[in-house]
Amino acid sequence: MDSLSPVTVCIIGAGPYGISVAAHLQSRGIEFRIFGISMHRWRAQMPIGMFLKSEGCASNLSDPIDRHTLRRYCAEEKLPYEEWGQPVSREVFVRYALSFQRTLVPNVESAIVTMVSKSNNGFRLELSSGERLNAEKVIIATGLEHMAHTPQELGRLPAHLQSHSERLHDLSQFRGKDVTVIGGGQSALETAVLLHETGAFVRLLVRKPSLRWNPPPRNGRRSLYRRLWAPRTGLGDGLQLWLYSNLPDLFRYLPQWIRLERAKNVLGPTGAWWLNERTAGLPILLGHSLLGAEARGDRAVLQVSDQNGRSDELVTDHVIAATGYSFQLGRLPFLSQDLVSRLRHEQQLPMLSSHFESSVPGLYFTGLASAYSFGPAMRFLHGASFTSRTIAQQIASAERDNRLVPAIQPAGIAKYDNLGAGG
Ligand SMILES: Cc1cc2nc3c(=O)[nH]c(=O)nc-3n(C[C@H](O)[C@H](O)[C@H](O)COP(=O)(O)OP(=O)(O)OC[C@H]3O[C@@H](n4cnc5c(N)ncnc54)[C@H](O)[C@@H]3O)c2cc1C
Repeated sequence: MDSLSPVTVCIIGAGPYGISVAAHLQSRGIEFRIFGISMHRWRAQMPIGMFLKSEGCASNLSDPIDRHTLRRYCAEEKLPYEEWGQPVSREVFVRYALSFQRTLVPNVESAIVTMVSKSNNGFRLELSSGERLNAEKVIIATGLEHMAHTPQELGRLPAHLQSHSERLHDLSQFRGKDVTVIGGGQSALETAVLLHETGAFVRLLVRKPSLRWNPPPRNGRRSLYRRLWAPRTGLGDGLQLWLYSNLPDLFRYLPQWIRLERAKNVLGPTGAWWLNERTAGLPILLGHSLLGAEARGDRAVLQVSDQNGRSDELVTDHVIAATGYSFQLGRLPFLSQDLVSRLRHEQQLPMLSSHFESSVPGLYFTGLASAYSFGPAMRFLHGASFTSRTIAQQIASAERDNRLVPAIQPAGIAKYDNLGAGG
């Protein structure tokens, strides 16, 4: 089935970023199609019982007038809500996001995009439904999909003895089992706590010698001094976080090595304040490095060493790598080889213009893929507002220009200000 007349914009992925971009395009009257199962990662892949690490005020999708906020949804549904200090459950966030989507972006199509390639005037897409279509612009909003990072030390362990935390929705499958979780960030800590509370025998293996916890937000009046030197933002308190939160467009002008380091490490592995007391009684092996892993019978054997260099073996029923995500262009299975080869990149991260456009005009990247251009806020829901406003504004002005000057467009590349070294 072929749709020959090109759609103006296709959005791939119907998570918080895809839906937010769609809401902004919709309000500007720009024709688009959006593909993916709405909020699929949050609904079907994140663990039952999970709470968001981000505070209520930083857990919004974005619409042009900031009307459809979590705060408003909770007020309408008579659910408890605080800007700070009231953890938001995954269930409430999903209900809010789906209500946002049904109200503002009812046209999400549940097909998966299986191929994107370059065509003469734009892009050619293939869908899981068999449909093929043309698009003038494509926005990639596929989030963390395909980007899970598993330590190479687990390479020899058969698939049935290990999982990545990215797809562990129902942890009750591990009840009564001995499970080892690897990692020291929120995902590892929360997965371990939920497993423990579900009745698994769980231990946590952490490479660092100590755990880091976010402090609980301090409610009440803040002194002028604190407001100046530690301004409050949706990402946390502090001048640096204020900059990442409020001026993400300046991040692009930092030298490449700083951008790569900051995008990855700012707001790195820490546990949420409200999770700390739930880890009491959990066996946590701090300062332990994983050296290797193998199967012995139907169990996994992990070779580990402690901070004094003493090595040991751990025998366990299942290993869960809660070891994060790393964006790499080459891992997006739906991008044609030809398209990937046209993309300028820095260490497999697409180089983006000030409007999130890649070096292939008309192809945009959002979320994690854009954190190296616009800073750590893009790894979180917090970045969805800046992203969707910027992209929708640029596409709307390009549309206006097209209508005014319908003549042939110059085949230039998008303008970059951060072209340092690159692929
Ligand atoms: C366990 C966990 C907890 C988190 N907690 C927080 C938090 O508390 N606060 C916070 O700000 N951030 C949190 N994050 C980060 C979070 O993932 C992002 O903030 C947010 O989900 C990013 O939205 P997104 O739309 O970019 O990606 P996603 O939410 O991953 O959505 C992308 C969607 O695209 C779909 N998709 C992928 N490929 C295709 C395709 N080929 N065709 C069609 N659809 C496709 C996927 O199914 C997915 O639903 C958490 C992440 C994890 C893993």
